[in-house]
Amino acid sequence: MRDRTTNTPSPLFSEETVKQRVRVMGQQISEDYAGVTSDSPLFLVVALKGAFIFAADLVRSITVPCRIDFIHASSYGAGKTSSGNVSIRHNLDVTGHHLLLVEDIVDTGLTLQQISAELMAMQPASLNICTLLDKPEARKYPVSVAYSGFTVPNAFIVGYGIDYNERYRELPFIGVL
Ligand code: 5GP
Repeated sequence: MRDRTTNTPSPLFSEETVKQRVRVMGQQISEDYAGVTSDSPLFLVVALKGAFIFAADLVRSITVPCRIDFIHASSYGAGKTSSGNVSIRHNLDVTGHHLLLVEDIVDTGLTLQQISAELMAMQPASLNICTLLDKPEARKYPVSVAYSGFTVPNAFIVGYGIDYNERYRELPFIGVL
């Protein structure tokens, strides 16, 4: 099989386009959560690792009080094919909090469905989903996405935190491998 780790991804969204879109998403979230207070801030739960750069930019575009914590979710083994099993690790207590689950890509929807179920079991005050990228053509498990950055084709995406075998996360743009 051809080794794709040496390929250069074709740009899909430039650094500037991503920056502007994330800024607008932060503004929209700030408007929608205008009622939160520092006693009861918006709680960003970030799915690692792919959403770490998106979340870092997003949180700096949000102007309402917020806190941030992380959940580790993995459905992909080595390579580009989902294993179909989602492994979820966290140490969160989110009971009574207004949650915004921050994800890199919604593909089949399985990962978000399972993370959401796990968070909902802790009885948060509310839960909304925010994803940088959405691949609607690949959806098998329905998820309700409140905030989506870009709709993308059913191709393999890398860059801006999103990897292929731990490569390409550092790219400032979003590309297709
Ligand atoms: P789902 O459970 O929705 O099928 O898959 C979601 C997860 O699979 C994402 O959080 C991401 O980690 C991974 N994933 C889905 N599509 C892609 C892709 O195009 N590129 C990369 N690098 N990961 C993807």
